[in-house]
Amino acid sequence: MREDVEVICPACHESIPLTVNPAKGSKTWEEECCVCDTPIAVRLIVDEDDEYTVEVEEVSEEEPEAKDADGLEETRVTCPACWEEIPLVIDLSAGSQTYSEDCSVCCRPMTVRVWVSEDGDEHTVDVEAESD
Ligand SMILES: [Zn+2]
Ligand SMILES: [Zn+2]
Repeated sequence: MREDVEVICPACHESIPLTVNPAKGSKTWEEECCVCDTPIAVRLIVDEDDEYTVEVEEVSEEEPEAKDADGLEETRVTCPACWEEIPLVIDLSAGSQTYSEDCSVCCRPMTVRVWVSEDGDEHTVDVEAESD
């Protein structure tokens, strides 16, 4: 059971013919628009009553995952001196570490203790007032 449908190309917005085969169930594939030659992703969704919908979208270039790429994680901590909540960027790629940081609100130094699990999936951050 092949069916001819018309879809709107997401790139050139022309109506283009497409042949789908809902009998084989839902699937996703790539097709080139016959008008503008832009590759488009076609998604055929067949529901339980054999009704089907066809969706098209422009094939997007795979974006490299920026998340966690540099190991920087933004967190919020409460300053032990002024009790303000302040943002803190920690470098998880450096592993567990203890260092000194000045509060961005009251400028008083505090000790930041970062614990990172061996696989890097978990971490905790503790801050305490710097003793002098
Ligand atoms: Zn097109
Ligand atoms: Zn503070």
